[in-house]
Amino acid sequence: MAFAFHILGTSSSGNCSILEAGGTRLMLDAGFQGPRLMASLEKISLEARAIDAVLITHEHSDHCIGLGALLRQNPLLKVFANRETARRIKESVKADVNWQLFETGTTFEVNGLQITSIPIPHDAADPVGFAIDCPPEEGRPSKRVTWLTDLGHATTVVKHHVALADILVLEANYDDEMLDLSKRPQSLKQRIRGNFGHLSNTQARDLLLGLKEWQTTELYLGHLSKECNRIIIIDEMMNEVRQRKTDLRITVVDPLEDNPVSLW
Ligand SMILES: [Zn+2]
Ligand SMILES: [Zn+2]
Repeated sequence: MAFAFHILGTSSSGNCSILEAGGTRLMLDAGFQGPRLMASLEKISLEARAIDAVLITHEHSDHCIGLGALLRQNPLLKVFANRETARRIKESVKADVNWQLFETGTTFEVNGLQITSIPIPHDAADPVGFAIDCPPEEGRPSKRVTWLTDLGHATTVVKHHVALADILVLEANYDDEMLDLSKRPQSLKQRIRGNFGHLSNTQARDLLLGLKEWQTTELYLGHLSKECNRIIIIDEMMNEVRQRKTDLRITVVDPLEDNPVSLW
């Protein structure tokens, strides 16, 4: 099994990726309903029972709603989460879960892969992002894949991990003006904009422009709001980042697209 990274989808409506590295298949978040999740796995020719472990960032449904369906196909699947996240999910998932608990901020191992959990500021019990160190294989150097969505703001820890990522999925949730003009209630707008809400396009760009040195070569901007963002707006905003870092490839993940985005 060679290295592969498949983003099955990332938006405010659902988040899920598959990382194949070092002979292990990991799912990062399981935020799609069963039928959509299974259809996405079929598109990358992967059966649910071939997945070794799933890592859950936090208990919001757009990150874990597919867990029950996944466990029906793969009952022994290892589910990694911190204690508080597991506790919240237990209330909604009926199935027995093979929980593998970790402490936020620590590095743990799954089948020889080193995984670091990264604390993030977001309005969930104990939300995290993940950085997975993939060993060298088939002549390709080692690389670090980092999954960071649902960020109220960019903390020092978040910036540190952004700079260390080779392959990075970063949130660019909303355009300020579109959020202003949307019909959403004021309280929801405040929640999204708050320090524990979501990262705007401007905040994502400023985070990247503020980095002195960073090694990312593949950047995926994700967790877009379907109502309050447009790919074309982010694309234009990222021009300054492209000029600053010419070896960087930027992909904005379409929140309306059902087909996986794959990197081999
Ligand atoms: Zn969330
Ligand atoms: Zn989310």
